Amino acid sequence: MVSWVAMQEWLDHQQAQMADELQTLCDLNSGSDSVEGLKRTANWLEEYMRPVSDSCRRIVLPDYQKIDDQGTVLQYATGPALAWELGVPPTQAATRVLMTIHYDTVYGPENAFQRCIRFEQRRPDGSLDACMRGPGVIDAKGGIVILRWSLLAAKKFLDLSPFSVSVLLTPDEEIGSPSSSELWGRIAGGYHVAMLFEPAMADGALVSHRKGTGNFTVVVRGRSAHAGRNFHEGRNAVVHASKLAIALNELNGQRPNVTINIGRLRGGDAVNVVPDLAVLRINVRVNDREDQVWIVEQVQSVVQRFQVPDEGFEVVLDGGLGSPPKVLDEAMAHWMKVSESAAALVGQRLHWNGSGGASDGNKLAALGLSNVDTFGPEGGLLHSDQEWIRLSSLPKKAALTAAFLHSIDCREE
Ligand SMILES: [Zn+2]
Repeated sequence: MVSWVAMQEWLDHQQAQMADELQTLCDLNSGSDSVEGLKRTANWLEEYMRPVSDSCRRIVLPDYQKIDDQGTVLQYATGPALAWELGVPPTQAATRVLMTIHYDTVYGPENAFQRCIRFEQRRPDGSLDACMRGPGVIDAKGGIVILRWSLLAAKKFLDLSPFSVSVLLTPDEEIGSPSSSELWGRIAGGYHVAMLFEPAMADGALVSHRKGTGNFTVVVRGRSAHAGRNFHEGRNAVVHASKLAIALNELNGQRPNVTINIGRLRGGDAVNVVPDLAVLRINVRVNDREDQVWIVEQVQSVVQRFQVPDEGFEVVLDGGLGSPPKVLDEAMAHWMKVSESAAALVGQRLHWNGSGGASDGNKLAALGLSNVDTFGPEGGLLHSDQEWIRLSSLPKKAALTAAFLHSIDCREE
């Protein structure tokens, strides 16, 4: 018999230590673009996870590409992915679980937001709630702390013998996991379920489904000319890209749950020169797979209409739906039920909500690996310099995570 009360008490006792560990981890900069910071953080994480397992494997990830505002394709390096294998070998395991979260943040080394600050919030009943503000406290370093302590609790209080658990920490989620995507593709088929440690919603809700999202870049090339001497020989790439932007914007409203955001348009330099280059960037959001197919076709066809080499314009489209929609299908409904019975074991009640934001859970779901992706902490204002965490959610979500591990049973399959 598992003593859930004893486990919960043990975890609650570790809250101060969890908070200290989180503070150290968040004070360590690991902005997605800082390879040095990512490597330093990876070293720290390897040590940090040692009580769970000393089998850390570093996976070198491929470089990723980005198109800059000059329309040039550039290569960028990222940090390593870190992997640990726990439990019995996968071939002998009745249940294979992937526990994963990213260790990069949106705050680079040049960002002013670098250090954690503790504060207290008054609850409606007048009592004080210990909180901490800091870069990555909920997105997603608090999730790493929860992941670690849930496994320590599982080792101490649970019998997970038919299990094989892979832990994977990745360095590039905040930029769309361009380097990890290939790795996901290779490993997703090997698991029954994945658990991700993204933050819960502001009200504590877990996420049942997520919109799909993707970025497109269009490089528009025209012909440059002197604005006075031979204006009419020029082909203005900024004007062409602006017309293209308006045409893409008109896709809004054609389907109820599809949005296209014209996010950025860069081009031109001196005002007396007809610009020969413009780079347009758009972000799209969709609810389901039909919308996904529709928007990709629409963007391609609109861009194709502006491909008019005879008139002196060339356009190149790059990008796509990097994070397909994560829908509430039958498999997801099953794992939501499992989560709810797990929560009941540790005296918690779950509620669910949809989210407009994507996570790596979208990518894994699209690869056929069902997942619950919000085992991370409670708090709010992520991606801002006000990002904060409710510290009591660290032991709370660690208990839920351990209970979920206990509640997974794939043996009949
Ligand atoms: Zn994020």
